[in-house]
Amino acid sequence: MEKEARRMTAYQICLLPGDGIGPEIIAEGVKVLDAVGAKAGVAFSYTTAAIGGCAIDECGEALPAATLEVAKASDAVLLAAVGGPKWDTTDPDKPRPEQGLLGIRKGLELYTNLRPVTVFDALSSASTLKPEVIDGVDLMMVRELTGGLYFGARERFYDEAGAGVGGAAGQRAYDTLEYREYEIDRIARQAFEVARKRRGKVTSVDKANVLESSRLWREVVHRVHDADYPDVELEDILVDNCAMQLITRPADFDVLVTENMFGDILSDEAAQLTGSLGMLASASLGDSTALYEPSHGSAPDIAGKGIANPLAQILSVEMMLRYSFNLQQGADDIRRAVTEVLDEGWRTGDIADASTPEDRVVGTARMGDLVVEHL
Ligand code: NAD
Repeated sequence: MEKEARRMTAYQICLLPGDGIGPEIIAEGVKVLDAVGAKAGVAFSYTTAAIGGCAIDECGEALPAATLEVAKASDAVLLAAVGGPKWDTTDPDKPRPEQGLLGIRKGLELYTNLRPVTVFDALSSASTLKPEVIDGVDLMMVRELTGGLYFGARERFYDEAGAGVGGAAGQRAYDTLEYREYEIDRIARQAFEVARKRRGKVTSVDKANVLESSRLWREVVHRVHDADYPDVELEDILVDNCAMQLITRPADFDVLVTENMFGDILSDEAAQLTGSLGMLASASLGDSTALYEPSHGSAPDIAGKGIANPLAQILSVEMMLRYSFNLQQGADDIRRAVTEVLDEGWRTGDIADASTPEDRVVGTARMGDLVVEHL
């Protein structure tokens, strides 16, 4: 028995429950992780650390150094959500919970953001699109997270040449969309790797008909493809066209890869295809570790009531198994279990509708138990 225990693979997970519904939903994620681990002969051990508002309360800052240390020393990080009215402030000198999020992404050098968008058949009526458009949607948005327009040089200054024109005072501002080859190279590789674990197709989104940075993007993506991923299908699409195609033929996409700002906008558009915020997970990957979290916030309006939907958190555990530990069977099991639970009609309040029988509306912990039972 002891020998067997020693033979088990062991992973160290950093848990960051954060604020609001965070502690409630992360408990369900851990429940599911333990159940999968027991089945797969993998042991998960956990260290819990503070981030966001609770960290501000504890030690005055949203990302204590100790939290970053724990996260760096772990094999993966599972985050719930941060924030709440208690810490809302416009005072630039006061700490804010989301500084914890930005800080940890930067501190762990997480340059790839993955957002899967899947429509579970049982919830297809939650989408604003027609069933025949939404049917079969299963795409992955791969967004570059640490470069591009959000990190380039920017300035606002007074420009005498523009002063007085049309009555304007003459202010001028610019932002810069800049990429280095290695930044494009590494995000392209991530996208191709993800595609190999899915349906083997990458759509690279750019604006190469106008932007020089996009022309470099396109060249590098194709170079990486031709050299190392010829087995993956690759197509290019202009970002404006992509925004249209996402709502006209979303089921045709497998993996989309794009720069930071295009990805910010398109991933929100894609997320809305499902209509169910409580169902969307995300992953942020770096070269040495990764962070997994739901796409929604800390839902302070329902915190502490035991009614939050834990499925986005549970689906972020699915991503952890897939992308950090290569435990594909465990990940597939979670997806199957969630699908079955929904097919049987079980709902938390946020995804219930008028047709849901009262006895099928369950709380956070019961929903987690149901998923575990179906594993
Ligand atoms: P939110 O996502 O927390 O909530 C929006 C609405 O969706 C609310 O009505 C909420 O009850 C509901 N909701 C969200 N998640 C749910 C779940 N799992 N189950 C059931 N219902 C759910 O967004 P918000 O209200 O704009 O923001 C609340 C706080 O969360 C703010 O402080 C915000 O800054 C923060 N926030 C954090 C993150 C993060 O941690 N990544 C992301 C977005 C917002």
